[in-house]
Amino acid sequence: VELITESDLSDRTCVGCRKPDAREALLRFVLGEASRLVPDVGRKLPGRGASVHPTRACLDAAAKRGGFARAFSRALDVDARVLARDAAEQYRRRADGLLLAAVRSGHAAVGTDAVRAAIADRTATQPRLLVVAADAEGRREELARGIARLGGACVSHRDRGSLGRLFGRDELAVLAITDGGLAAEIGRAATSANELSEDE
Ligand SMILES: [Zn+2]
Repeated sequence: VELITESDLSDRTCVGCRKPDAREALLRFVLGEASRLVPDVGRKLPGRGASVHPTRACLDAAAKRGGFARAFSRALDVDARVLARDAAEQYRRRADGLLLAAVRSGHAAVGTDAVRAAIADRTATQPRLLVVAADAEGRREELARGIARLGGACVSHRDRGSLGRLFGRDELAVLAITDGGLAAEIGRAATSANELSEDE
């Protein structure tokens, strides 16, 4: 029998569905001022934490069944909608930062033409993740199929205007990430933001 301490449990087991999972698959919360729960998407804030799957279902379950209160050993006033909104915004900002890092380090193809060329170029590093603005026309299905054929994934993130502003453009519909590590992290952050933003 493996000895599991309370802090291990609160950091690696979802306080919503109570299933264990990898740290990077879970969303961490810490206790802020006035016993307010604060999302810690980067898992960097000090102190005791409680982790939950970044989904509305697990957040709602944690709020309704006292999962957070148990993890922090105190009565807490938890509004799952507010937590979901705050965490989704943190995930979006994290994805934005990683997208900027990918472009600056030359691990991205920016814009429809560049992505199409990157998919077709068998000699270059192949794109691992397609990031598509939620309001992109046709949602760039031809490019999504191209990425899928290469074994890559596709994720929706922000809209054309806000995606463009990140890179000093009026708008941007699509970009592709060629670095595997960055692609995985961006995919996780954007997917979590989308899942937490879904209406009940
Ligand atoms: Zn869960």
